[in-house]
Amino acid sequence: MNMTIPGRNLDTAQWQELDRLHHVHPFTDSKALNRKGSRIITRADGVYVWDSDGRRILDGMAGLWCVNIGYGRKELARVAYEQMQELPYYNIFFQTSHPPATDLAALLSEVTPAHLNHVFFTNSGSEANDTVVRLVRRYWDIKGKPARTVIISRENAYHGSTMAGASLGGMKPMHRQGGLPIPDIEHIMQPYWYALGEGLTPEEFGLRAARALEERIEHLGPERVAAFIGEPIQGAGGVIVPPETYWPEIVRICRKYDILLVVDEVICGFGRTGKWFGSDYYGLEPDLMSIAKGLSSGYLPIGGVMLSDAVADVLIEKGGEFQHGFTYSGHPACCAVAAANVRILRDERIIERAEQETVPYLQSRIREFETHPLVGEVRGVGMLGALQLAKNKDTRLMFDPPGDVGSLCRDHCTANDLIMRAVGDSMIVSPPLVISRSEIDELIDKAARALDLTARDLGIS
Ligand SMILES: *Cc1c(COP(=O)(O)O)cnc(C)c1O
Repeated sequence: MNMTIPGRNLDTAQWQELDRLHHVHPFTDSKALNRKGSRIITRADGVYVWDSDGRRILDGMAGLWCVNIGYGRKELARVAYEQMQELPYYNIFFQTSHPPATDLAALLSEVTPAHLNHVFFTNSGSEANDTVVRLVRRYWDIKGKPARTVIISRENAYHGSTMAGASLGGMKPMHRQGGLPIPDIEHIMQPYWYALGEGLTPEEFGLRAARALEERIEHLGPERVAAFIGEPIQGAGGVIVPPETYWPEIVRICRKYDILLVVDEVICGFGRTGKWFGSDYYGLEPDLMSIAKGLSSGYLPIGGVMLSDAVADVLIEKGGEFQHGFTYSGHPACCAVAAANVRILRDERIIERAEQETVPYLQSRIREFETHPLVGEVRGVGMLGALQLAKNKDTRLMFDPPGDVGSLCRDHCTANDLIMRAVGDSMIVSPPLVISRSEIDELIDKAARALDLTARDLGIS
């Protein structure tokens, strides 16, 4: 049988019609989308994607923050093809393993912080964080402290979309759909200085936001608290870069109360901050670390949880059977592609080169928008940036209701063949790490045009 990939046989209107009839999209108002029709993306190369009308679009978001090595790396396609011929599937339950999973596990222990030398494989970031909940509670159970069940997270955090992932996350609209959070998940304030830090310097506010953790632990009773989880930099919440004082204080509090520090590196991992991990950027030594996205640069779905030596020792030496796993944990093709991706990042020194050359360039260029009348704050680290739009930049007055102006600006970007994301009224960029200086120039020019058109629509100049 001669099978081929779909895509070349129908035109845009035909794909849109099938999509409308049969496809329910994630995080989408389907009725609104069906009215205008979805944009059909058919191929990609480097930092660009092409739609079914042949338009070339600069992907300022690296897909969903994940295509770190850029599109079109044929090595990854070849590895997937060869692995699927050799061993398309076998599981790693029940006393078996296979070379791709074992190879990737060993490779991850090399590239992640030194004390993280074990991995549990999942298929996504959400499943990684579900695994975190089970691992954390199992850990304290084995240690003879089963009352330690509460995991403390932050408002406006994003940790995925499964029941546990969405519960750990602090997105209220997600909680409202489906009776979340699940029990024993608590949320404290986020370190979002621009929105919440009125009257305080960023340094003062960073300490204040971190001390909300200590207050909550004292309120709940330290004997009930199992772990704290946080993204080094909140991604989907709007690229919220915490003040310098925040993480050291969080670490101090976790150590003081002997609670586990879980770092969700699903976005920050694999080079997004200009270091290999957000933990390297902030000097953190997490007990558990969630990974996904950049692990495979999105070429195939895979995630995992890295365990510190201390946690692995408890779980492995004293825990007996861990009753948890997924049919596709450590899928051979996904592991082989992820390992090839990590080796390309390492051997081509993609992260180090970005840190030295293009990261400083992107960060300085986005800061040119600080003088734009619509922009209240520019934030960013590594290949992450946010332009916080504000109604009055001098008084830090935000738009009300939030989100409409961001959406308007996003639509101007889209019309101009640039993908930027609007989170409320923050305009986000998170391009592939391989973006060049001239491609950054193109991104900045297009973003500037979108901002100007948005200002014009609002009658601001
Ligand atoms: C995307 C994301 C997740 C969820 O990952 P999925 O692969 O979409 O399940 C979890 N945590 C963070 C920080 C993320 O950005």
